Amino acid sequence: MENSPLFNSGKGAVYNKVGKHELDASIMRGSDLQAGAVAGVKQVKNPINAAFEVLKSSPHVMLSGDGADEFAKQLNLDLVDNSYFDTDYRYQQWQAINHKKDVSLSEDLLKTDTKFGTVGAVAIDQNGTIAAGTSTGGMTNKAFGRIGDSPIIGAGTYADNRSCGISATGHGEFFIRYAVAHDICARVLYKNISLNKAADEVINDELIKAGGDGGIIGLDKNGNIVMTFNTAGMYRGYKTNDSPAQVLIYKKDSHHK
Ligand code: ASP
Repeated sequence: MENSPLFNSGKGAVYNKVGKHELDASIMRGSDLQAGAVAGVKQVKNPINAAFEVLKSSPHVMLSGDGADEFAKQLNLDLVDNSYFDTDYRYQQWQAINHKKDVSLSEDLLKTDTKFGTVGAVAIDQNGTIAAGTSTGGMTNKAFGRIGDSPIIGAGTYADNRSCGISATGHGEFFIRYAVAHDICARVLYKNISLNKAADEVINDELIKAGGDGGIIGLDKNGNIVMTFNTAGMYRGYKTNDSPAQVLIYKKDSHHK
């Protein structure tokens, strides 16, 4: 999905205030709480691969900026010129707001019925190990150096086999301040409530009160699928062993577990 210009992730990432792309990604494994993240990378073609390398082959959880690009280079990951991430569509989107102070979510484009967005994935294997990952270009017209929730473990991504795995999309500053991904998992664990209820409490109550747009995809330890959002729609899909892949956009599109 990072290689597809359809998503705000890898190729097709949004532009920042100075007309460049700075990408964020993270990944977490719920069996041992190992995690890896890269923030503000400018040359790594596939930031999620770099995040996974941080998990596997570094003593750290998060690398940022030039150091993260250099780390990816040392591991022979594909590097590209920053202009590789350019697309006309994102350029026009940036041009429409770059004279303002605003930042905007790629999902705001739902209003014009186009289909772009941050990419997240959550999966569970037959041993009950949950993994969650998120990769994004961030928010259009974000400040140079701004880091969103997507590479922050506990904000945009979290996985714990005892509770659930979560990947978030939305206005990152709110997701960081409300530690959304971890908060949902913690509610499942400590309050002994369903993932559906926990996600609803955080996304449709806490975040709405705070004014934070966005949503999550998640899986609990029993494989229940939850996709909760407080926006008009969220591009999402799922697949189980015994059901074909489903793709949904708007709120009214319901899903069956
Ligand atoms: N959460 C991302 C960020 O704030 C943006 C998004 O999900 O569209 O960087």
